[in-house]
Amino acid sequence: MRSTKSSVKSRIGSACTVPVEHIAAARDNASRPARLALATNDRHGRDWNRSIALAAIKQSIRASLYRTGITPAIARLRRRTCVLMLHGVGGAELDADVFGEMVVYLKRHFRPLSLAALVAELDEPPLVARPAVVLTFDDGLANNVTVAYPILERHAVPAAFFVCPGLIDAGSWLWTHEVRARLAMLDEPTRRALAPELPTCGVGAIVQHLKELAPTARAHGIEAVRAATPAFTPSAAQRQACDLADWAQLALLDPALVTIGSHSSSHDIMIGMDEARLEREVVGSKARIETMLGRKVEHFCYPNGDFDAAADARVRATYASALSTRVGLVPPLAPDRHALPRLAVPDDVSSLALRMALA
Ligand SMILES: [Zn+2]
Repeated sequence: MRSTKSSVKSRIGSACTVPVEHIAAARDNASRPARLALATNDRHGRDWNRSIALAAIKQSIRASLYRTGITPAIARLRRRTCVLMLHGVGGAELDADVFGEMVVYLKRHFRPLSLAALVAELDEPPLVARPAVVLTFDDGLANNVTVAYPILERHAVPAAFFVCPGLIDAGSWLWTHEVRARLAMLDEPTRRALAPELPTCGVGAIVQHLKELAPTARAHGIEAVRAATPAFTPSAAQRQACDLADWAQLALLDPALVTIGSHSSSHDIMIGMDEARLEREVVGSKARIETMLGRKVEHFCYPNGDFDAAADARVRATYASALSTRVGLVPPLAPDRHALPRLAVPDDVSSLALRMALA
């Protein structure tokens, strides 16, 4: 690390510009690996063993509720539409076979819909017993095309993939994926030097801090991490998890089965962006996907689920619907189609069934 503590601090930045509710939402949405990393740092081994035992008991209860059909029955009785949020498939985040099991489960108990069909149903809810479910994949990962798509195709279950055209054009990763992978190469003193103002210097804490900065300060912080890791070369496993689908891969997807939406151009957090930036991220991303894939793009998904009033206004003027990361089922009366809530998909089907029953 060549910089002094104070100069690195100025490059990472420290001004928090994000409202508390956004910070809390982002923390709730922290990736499972990040949460596991925090847990393994627990200094109290006994508490850790107890929490593992408790987790095993909870899992066993969830599995019984699923096997006996209780959680699927409760979810069906609620008769409310559920929009599910997925990211990677086929790696540590969600096993391909488990995803296949989920698709079978969803098809058996619910009505899988495309996003366009869901938006149409918001105006005129049909009188049918089975509630609708919509599968949405954020980030446009290559494994969505290579792993998830064949499974969706086999079961004829529609889905929406939200892609970032600026990143596809640049051949780069989401900044969060890249920064996590680069920080994981560094030892603790080096990470501490990168973010001396933070109470902890774990990878998750630094990424969270960067999320809370204004766009320009965040860009400087990302550059500081890049400068500290010049030897970074992704492993095969990292590429499987983080590589984005390219235009050729996306062009192969059947438009009757997969809706392509915009996840902004750069996947930067849409708080505090000026008008020119919003134009690129909201309007420009739509135009670029339409040009490259020759299909209409009518749905948007906010990176990290965050937005301010200016981003909200731009998205409402440009798209038929927008997805947030607010947790919940779609409200039955007058839902806001530009801030649709979702449920994150966990890594096993019995947990998914319980989450859908209790949401
Ligand atoms: Zn995303």
